[in-house]
Amino acid sequence: MTKICIIGAGPSGLAQLRAFEQAENSGSEIPEIVCYEKQENWGGLWNFSWRTGTDQAGDTVHNSMYRYLWSNGPKEGLEFADYTFQEHFGKSIASYPPREVLFDYIQGRIKKTNVREKIEFNTLVRDVKYIEDRNVFAVTTRNGKTDSEKTVEFDNVIVASGHFSTPNVPYYEGFEIFNGRILHAHDFRDAREFSDMDILVLGTSYSAEDITSQCWKYGCRSVTVAHRTAPMGFGWPENIKEVPALVKVNERTAFFKDGSSAEFDAIILCTGYKHHFPFLPDDLRLKTANRLACNDLYKGVVWNNNPKLFYLGMQDQWYTFNMFDAQAWYVRDVLMGQIQLPDQKTMDRDPVIRQENEDALEDDYACIRYQGAYVQELINETDYENFNIDAANEAFFQWKKAKKKNIMTFRDQGGLISPMDESTSPAHHTEWKDELDDSMASYMKN
Ligand SMILES: Cc1cc2nc3c(=O)[nH]c(=O)nc-3n(C[C@H](O)[C@H](O)[C@H](O)COP(=O)(O)OP(=O)(O)OC[C@H]3O[C@@H](n4cnc5c(N)ncnc54)[C@H](O)[C@@H]3O)c2cc1C
Repeated sequence: MTKICIIGAGPSGLAQLRAFEQAENSGSEIPEIVCYEKQENWGGLWNFSWRTGTDQAGDTVHNSMYRYLWSNGPKEGLEFADYTFQEHFGKSIASYPPREVLFDYIQGRIKKTNVREKIEFNTLVRDVKYIEDRNVFAVTTRNGKTDSEKTVEFDNVIVASGHFSTPNVPYYEGFEIFNGRILHAHDFRDAREFSDMDILVLGTSYSAEDITSQCWKYGCRSVTVAHRTAPMGFGWPENIKEVPALVKVNERTAFFKDGSSAEFDAIILCTGYKHHFPFLPDDLRLKTANRLACNDLYKGVVWNNNPKLFYLGMQDQWYTFNMFDAQAWYVRDVLMGQIQLPDQKTMDRDPVIRQENEDALEDDYACIRYQGAYVQELINETDYENFNIDAANEAFFQWKKAKKKNIMTFRDQGGLISPMDESTSPAHHTEWKDELDDSMASYMKN
């Protein structure tokens, strides 16, 4: 029987397990599957950890999420087509749930299955080798609890280890003598740590946007956000401002490209993440920028240099959970012989064309449509439940407009339509800026 290895039990790895489980429930014989997960539970980034640096096993902490994190996009854009929010919670919920609520939702459909048995927790994949003469992968893992290593052979490997976990950390002159704390967003855990402080944030990513808002909400004195190319341009409250790029710092002062300077207590680097696969050799390792069409992946998932290897969720993400589903269903059908891959030339050309099309996109609205069309393309080739991509795109558009109107109130917005069951989301009972209790119990009071 074919033997398949999945690396990671985050939303992408769980989508893969779910895809096979669905095929099995429909009467198909599925391959033997083992999923290795280095943490002690599933959920990937949604499985919050207070730890930073190294974990109990001495490996790097995967988590990049923080206390008080609420969804930064509308839940209508990430909903599973085969398991709606309405089905999970028994009612419509507001559109920007806190982390705990989304973690509960992710687990909902999978808890009803036996897939947990296929996951080996506390097990880090350390090395993957392709053994040419036997067409198998030798996967070496270490169990962090027992401190024991083993190597198992597989016919296929699916990499679902995420790509928002290894920080990209720039250096600026003077960092070594700055008197306050310097940290990357990956190590940001609790905005209260920065109350009454003047904070410098570097970057214009989601992390920069959200960590700035978090620090403001939890009482920092001011936030200054330095950008290299263009400001985020939101209508920030008066104690948040955007400035041009950082040039250097000294013990207390940061100096910017426009000649201005100011004193800060802490510097938070929201400077992005790296695709990092230390367990893969050069010829199997994805090397790509964080973009909508990755290098070298046919249909965004098949490793062109060796189509027995697959990657899930490696794209920059507007769509998330349902895109991972669409990818997982597609990979499942390739592995089960339902989908035939084309010749090598066509496969190699595919990501090139996708990137040319991506490069021609004019704005974020076009990027959302582009990723929506990609999700639709994959769904069309499998039996994943079709859903209203236009409605999901529309939810993203509404979100973008609400952010532009007021970055501190966009999460208070109700009235978004589910692309799955057309239910309408209520507004949350308390404004985001005033809601300090973001437990699931509180959120569900709606
Ligand atoms: C701060 C932050 C906020 C975000 N907010 C949102 C949001 O609001 N909405 C949204 O939809 N998305 C959000 N995202 C995007 C997020 O990437 C996806 O929601 C989702 O978690 C991606 O799932 P994944 O399974 O691909 O990767 P991950 O969630 O990263 O899971 C990967 C899994 O692989 C495991 N793993 C890694 N390496 C190994 C190894 N060598 N051996 C064994 N196991 C391994 C990890 O422990 C982890 O469990 C956010 C991301 C970040 C960083």
